[in-house]
Order: sequence, then structure tokens, then C-alpha cells
Amino acid sequence: MESLKKLLQDELEDIYDAEHQLVKALPRMVEASSSPELQQALRQHLTVTQNQIKRLEQVFGALGEKAKRKPCKGMAGIVSEGNEMLEEDLDDSTMDAAIISAAQKVEHYEIASYGTVRTLAQTLGNNEVAELLEETLDEEKEADRRLTQIAESSINSEAASEEEESNGRNRASQGSKSSRSKTRNTRPSRGRSKAGR
Ligand code: FE
Ligand code: ZN
Ligand code: FE
Repeated sequence: MESLKKLLQDELEDIYDAEHQLVKALPRMVEASSSPELQQALRQHLTVTQNQIKRLEQVFGALGEKAKRKPCKGMAGIVSEGNEMLEEDLDDSTMDAAIISAAQKVEHYEIASYGTVRTLAQTLGNNEVAELLEETLDEEKEADRRLTQIAESSINSEAASEEEESNGRNRASQGSKSSRSKTRNTRPSRGRSKAGR
């Protein structure tokens, strides 16, 4: 039991460091993304992450331990790969896709970590700590789902605008030409420009 407690403590120190790394990394990702939905999701997850750090401090407190950071090499690696991608010369929608990919790697890493510490706390019979960790686990899963939604919707709108640009195609539907061009004109153009940043 002592060694499980030690393992839990080590894992908590690791994820506590990982969350701090993420608080530093997220603003760069917001800065580099173009899709307003993606920016909003990342900003929101930054707020959630700051709260997760406080929740971990609560966890350390409940265990009678001091909150300590143990350098998380896993998160450092994921963040460093992400930063490399931000350096690349990609068009806006490809950059957004790359940022979503990096962000989802982060979330999956965190989901693995929080799943582990939640289960360790359960095994040790500490339900208070297990519940706190499960709250964070749920938030990470939610962030991951949101990123998937954004990826799917932007892929769809990308595909839609490509379809729009292709000429001379016939719709199988009975829709008239006028209703088709109306659809085209009312499609909102999304701010993908780099202006104003
Ligand atoms: Fe987190
Ligand atoms: Zn780690
Ligand atoms: Fe997260």
C-alpha cells in the first residue's frame, strides 16, 4: 500500500507539472490558430486548466502532501512537437488542423494520466481524491470531444467550399438555379485572414 501511495504522489507531481506546461503552451496555440471556434475552445480550456491546477492543489492537500512539480517529459515532448509545427509555413486551415492534432495529443495524454491517478486513489480507498480527479478527467474528455467536433465541422466546411468552387455540376435535387445561388451568397465568409492579430 505504501508503494501505491508513492506511485500516486509521483503521478500527481507529474501531471501537476504537465498542467503548468500547458498553461504556458495554450496562448501560443490560440495565437497561431485562425478558426474562431478553435480559438475559443483553446481559450476556454486555458481557463479550465488553471482551475485543474487549483484542483490538484486540493488533492495534494487532501493527501496531506505539499503540491510539488516533477518535470513531465511526456508533456514536454508533446508541447515541443506542437511548437515545431507552429514554426512551419502552413496555410491557415492546415495550421488549424495541426493545432487540433497537437491539442488532442495533449488531451489524450492527460486522459491517460488522470484515469491512472483516479483509479489509484480508488484502490487506496480515497474517494474524495478519486472524485476530484474524475472531475478533471471528465473535463479533459470534454475538451477532446470539442476538438473532434471542430475538426469535423471545419473539414466539412472546407469540403463544402471546394464543392462550391467546382463548376458545371448538376444537383440531383430539384432545387432551382436561383435558390442555389441564394445559398451561395448567404454563406458567411469566415475570418481566416491574419489581419488584426
Ligand atoms: Fe488538464
Ligand atoms: Zn508525464
Ligand atoms: Fe487538458
